[in-house]
Amino acid sequence: MAGNYAPCPQCGDTNAQLLSFTWWGGLIGPKLLTHVKCPACGKRFNGKSGKDNTVGIALYMGAISIFVFVLVGAIAVMVAMN
Ligand SMILES: [Zn+2]
Repeated sequence: MAGNYAPCPQCGDTNAQLLSFTWWGGLIGPKLLTHVKCPACGKRFNGKSGKDNTVGIALYMGAISIFVFVLVGAIAVMVAMN
């Protein structure tokens, strides 16, 4: 029986499991990017495309950085107005 995700790009195993937590994405990142791990070889990849997720992770981290930057800026403005 095939798994729910694309086969592993490294060994072809089809039982990849969705990661629940990663250092770069916390609890939400892996779900947004369908970041799965192959149980046979340990390779981590995108479970939808079956490709490496490095670009997605970089974009995700970039988006989080901008979000934090804007949030900190907004708080700074609010503090300055008081
Ligand atoms: Zn594999």
